[in-house]
Amino acid sequence: MAEPIKLFQYNTLSALMSGLFEGSMTIGELLEQGDLGIGTLDAIDGELIVLDGKAYQARGDKTITEVGPDVQVPYAAVVFHQAEVIFRQRYEATNEELQTRIETYYDGANLFRSIKIHGTFSNMHVRMIPKAKAGAKFADIATNQPEYTEKDVTGTIVGIWTPEMFHGVSVAGYHLHFITDDHTFGGHVLDYVIKEGTVEVGAVDQLDQRFPVQDRKYLFAKLNLDELKEDISKSE
Ligand SMILES: [Zn+2]
Repeated sequence: MAEPIKLFQYNTLSALMSGLFEGSMTIGELLEQGDLGIGTLDAIDGELIVLDGKAYQARGDKTITEVGPDVQVPYAAVVFHQAEVIFRQRYEATNEELQTRIETYYDGANLFRSIKIHGTFSNMHVRMIPKAKAGAKFADIATNQPEYTEKDVTGTIVGIWTPEMFHGVSVAGYHLHFITDDHTFGGHVLDYVIKEGTVEVGAVDQLDQRFPVQDRKYLFAKLNLDELKEDISKSE
């Protein structure tokens, strides 16, 4: 049997949404677990984009920098992406239209997928979570996030599709980040229109859920799950 394809997730979305923003795993350690993925940085200072084994940070001030191995993350999900399905998108489509097409290739709705889309986008609408102090309410911060739209950009969307039953551990549905080929624009994808491109859907056989076991704040956090579910649906 082939090696199972492992989605590695550090910490949970619920913990992040509860205000546990302090980084506790290094980028160096994270990149040993995957070459494609998403996340955020210490103090939720922007969006983490992992593409082809490199990590980039898209900040609220619209800057993008490559992240060094010693930088800490509070939350991330990465996988050694292996395309199971590759198709050409030759005609213009909205994100909803493309996602409907992508989902025709899924074997049911109960497995995670990795997603990689390289192409030209006639419209790309992203946001970046702004840096915040630990303990601040994620849902409050999320209502005041910088958003940007760029026209005719070429780049790559990377991310994860999560089955409904794992909502809370991660966010159900698509969690996608974008970065242009020249690394000048990117962030957390809100919506887009693809002009043309190549879509890769990767299989995931296994979830490796790692916890911040030395983080006292995580260990003893009292999570209000009903409120969390509401906050996640509002902000993601
Ligand atoms: Zn994101």
